Formats: sequence, C-alpha cells, structure tokens
Amino acid sequence: MQTRSCQVLIIGGGPGGYPAAIRAGQLGLDTIIVDKHGLGGTCLNRGCIPSKAMIHAATKYEEMSKHAEKDELGISLAEAPKLDMGKLVGWKDGIVSKLTGGVGQLIKAAGVEHISGWARFKDAKTCVVDTDEGEIEITAEHVVLATGSVEVELPFLPFGDKVIGSTDALDLSEKPEKLVVVGAGYIGLELGIAFRKLGSEVTFIEASDGILPLYDKEITRPITMWLKKHKVAVNLSCKAKGMTEKGGMAVLEYEDAKGETQSIEADKILVAVGRKACLDGWGVENMGLDLVDGRFIKVDDQCRTGMRNVWAIGDVVGEPLLAHKATAQGEMVAELIAGHKRVFDPVSIAAVCFTEPEVVGVGLTPDEAKAKGEEVITGKFPLAASGRYLSMEAGTDGGFVRVTARESDHVILGIHAVGTHVSELSGEFALAIEMGARLEDIAGTIHVHPTLTEGFLESALTALGHPIHISAPKK
Ligand code: FAD
Repeated sequence: MQTRSCQVLIIGGGPGGYPAAIRAGQLGLDTIIVDKHGLGGTCLNRGCIPSKAMIHAATKYEEMSKHAEKDELGISLAEAPKLDMGKLVGWKDGIVSKLTGGVGQLIKAAGVEHISGWARFKDAKTCVVDTDEGEIEITAEHVVLATGSVEVELPFLPFGDKVIGSTDALDLSEKPEKLVVVGAGYIGLELGIAFRKLGSEVTFIEASDGILPLYDKEITRPITMWLKKHKVAVNLSCKAKGMTEKGGMAVLEYEDAKGETQSIEADKILVAVGRKACLDGWGVENMGLDLVDGRFIKVDDQCRTGMRNVWAIGDVVGEPLLAHKATAQGEMVAELIAGHKRVFDPVSIAAVCFTEPEVVGVGLTPDEAKAKGEEVITGKFPLAASGRYLSMEAGTDGGFVRVTARESDHVILGIHAVGTHVSELSGEFALAIEMGARLEDIAGTIHVHPTLTEGFLESALTALGHPIHISAPKK
C-alpha cells in the first residue's frame, strides 16, 4: 500500500470541500482532497446546478408552448415546441462537466492534489483511500470532513425503476406522463414544477398541512396559486404508505387527511422527503467524534469537532443544508488552519426556493420575530406595482417583498420575497441583514430603476409609512 502524508486532508469535493482545498492551497498549505463521486459534490453533479438548468429549460419550453397556443406580446409560434428529454439532459450534463472540469483546474492551480476514491478512517488522522490503482494510506496534521449529505429513502418506497429520488429525476431519458412527488419541500417543488412545465401531470403528496413548511402562508400563497392554475394536485396532510405495480404503472398508496387509504397511478414516483448527513461507510465511528442526535457531526462556531485538528463543514454538520453555507465554512476552516482568526457567526443565511414563483428568505419572519419577544413593524410591497416586474410579464403572480424590522430602532430582522427572479435579490437582502441595516438605510439608498431591487426600497418605505408607488398603509 502506498503511504502519504500532508498538512491538510479534505474528504469530500462538494461546495464545502473544494473551496476549503482552494483556499488552503492559496495559503500555502500542503493539501490533498479526496472525493469518490466527482469534484463539485452534490451541488454541481446532482443538486443545485443540474436542477436549475432543468428548471430553466422547462421554463423555456413552457413559454414556447404558450406562444404556440396564443399570440402573446405579438409573438406567436406556428407549431408547438418539441421536447427531446435525452437532449435536454445532455445539455444539462454539458454544463455540469464544464463546471466540474473548472473546479478540477482551480484545485490544480492552487497546488492541491486531488485523489479520486473512497476514504475510510482507521483513526482520526489516518485514512485509507480506495482508488482504481489500489489503496493509499494518508496521514494528515489536519483533517476536514466535508462528506455532505445523501437523499433520504423511505423504507416502504425503495428507489428503483418506478420510485426515484432527485438524482434520478435529473437524469430521466423520458418525461414521465404522470409524476407523483412525495414531499412538497423545496427540492420536491422545484422538480415537480419543472416537470409540470415540461408537460407532465404532477401530483404532490405531503405529510404536513402546507407546502414549504419553513415559510408562512403569505409567502407560499403565490406558489399555491401557480400550482392551482396549472392543475397540479397538492394533497396535504397525506402520508405515503407503499407502492404496487399494475399494468406497467406504479400505484402509490397513501393515507389521506381523514385517515382513509387512497391510491394514485404514476409513471414515476419522486421521493423528495429530505436529506441526511453522509455518515456511513467511511469510519466516522473510528474517529471518536461527537454527533448531534446521531444525525450530524457536532462542531463549534469554528467548525472544530471534539477531536483536535479534525474539522467538519457543510451538510454533514447540519442545517441549513445549503451550498453557500458549506462554502463559507470551508474557506473559514482553511484560514483557521493557516493561523487566521475567524469564527462562523452569520447573522442569517439566505435561502432560495427556485419554485414558480421563486422565494427568498433571510432572517426572521414576523411570527418568528414575535416568538423571540420582538415588537415588529413590517412593510410589504406588491411587485404588481413594479414597472420592471410588469415588463417581465410577471404582474399577476402575487409576488411581493416584505421587510420585518424591530419597532424600536428599525433594525431589519428579516426580509422575504416571492416572485419571478427574486432569487437575484438575495445578495442585497443578506447584505442588509449582515450589516445591521435599518429601514432608513434602505430607504436612503438610491436603487436602480427599473429593477426589482426597487421593491426592497419600497417595502422599507412602506414599513416607514411613506411608500411612493403604492398608497401609504393606514395608521
Ligand atoms: P456535498 O455537495 O454533498 O459533497 C460531498 C462529497 O463528498 C460528495 O461528492 C460525496 O461523494 C463525497 N464523499 C462523501 N464521503 C466520502 C468518502 N468517504 N470518500 C470520498 N468521497 C466522499 N443548495 C443550495 O444552496 N442551493 C440550491 O439551489 C440547491 N439545490 C439543490 C437541489 C437538489 C436537487 C439537491 C439534491 C440539493 C440542492 N442543494 C442546494 C443542496 C446542496 O447541494 C448541498 O447543500 C451542498 O452540496 C452541500 O455541500 P457539501 O460540500 O457539504 O457536500
């Protein structure tokens, strides 16, 4: 067996691990990164990027279909568009390989070695990597665990031909005519809506009493409206129970809100009920690490585990399971190892659902702020009053920007928006919260016209009682 040693050994090449490796390389640390399933991790290979590519293609197809049905904006198409799912998936794969190839080049340029293989720890600092060329034993001064997360599989709906997870859903060679999605969280909704736009008949089965359970009803209402308008059935308070096959179709059995057993036919059943930390099969039990409820690796505010010089970042350390959180932690850990003073203490981490319409949330909702004992004021600006929004044909989807601020000093505690393209507002929202902005700071910043950012400005003005483009709220 080959043996190696290094200063920093990073396990996992996702948006946590690869930025940690690049930053460690930039800082002159002798670094090795190990990944089995390709640099870029879940995010680039089977998560954020491929799903957004598919959503984009689906939106384009839906728009073209509309123009073929009806002359809108003076644009008509003589024929309905044709969908070649294989080519769509091929286009998506092209984007993935461009990006993962780019990550490989960045890793190399930073002087970091990438080893492709599965890592298993013998103890906290010794790891054996199974590669195609044989085993390599690596000892390291510092170990960074960035093993990410995997899809949750329901024991009574095991993944297979008819029952698929998000990874398979992004690789289908044919569009399912009938798709049942178990789980109406963000992944299920993003993919379910994309398939609806591609023409699938889509039905949701959701155990809780609302879609996107982390958001309040005001925020989810425009998505509910879209689903209704597009004849997507959403069965709430319903629990999937199992599946049989009949005449080549899957038949999902579920218990409805009244406790009665129902069934529904599908070509494919997409199970999107969440993700869990990747803790199996790599020897975490040999490392003497503490876990949180057995589900995630326990870390402090510098991503240190209980074991000296063993660090953990990204999905494997728990919520929020988001790529940008993993990246921020990865960069921080590399800098800490290099001797910088850093701490992971964001005021809030923005989250986006690339649904139709999109949702962005940073900080507290009004209810969450009140539950924390805050007296709040809110300002809500309907995007139907935005010139930019109307010019993008988006005026009727119920979109808005809502700001929540502390009543006493007007410090902004939360910003939420729902609407077409509002994901692009997440940067300004996150900055406002992180910088401790007050409503007056936003109101006093000149926002570009015509852009959706004016919606944020107007929501702050509304909270202050003097919006320009809607009537002032009654006192
Ligand atoms: P991962 O990206 O999971 O990477 C971990 C890597 O480690 C994997 O490549 C794995 O193979 C490898 N690995 C694990 N164990 C070993 C081992 N022992 N040896 C070798 N290699 C190993 N997040 C967002 O912020 N925005 C989005 O829009 C978004 N959309 C998503 C859509 C979908 C469909 C999915 C599934 C996820 C989405 N996410 C999104 C979540 C995002 O992908 C994750 O939060 C992010 O990838 C976590 O990064 P990570 O580095 O912690 O782990």
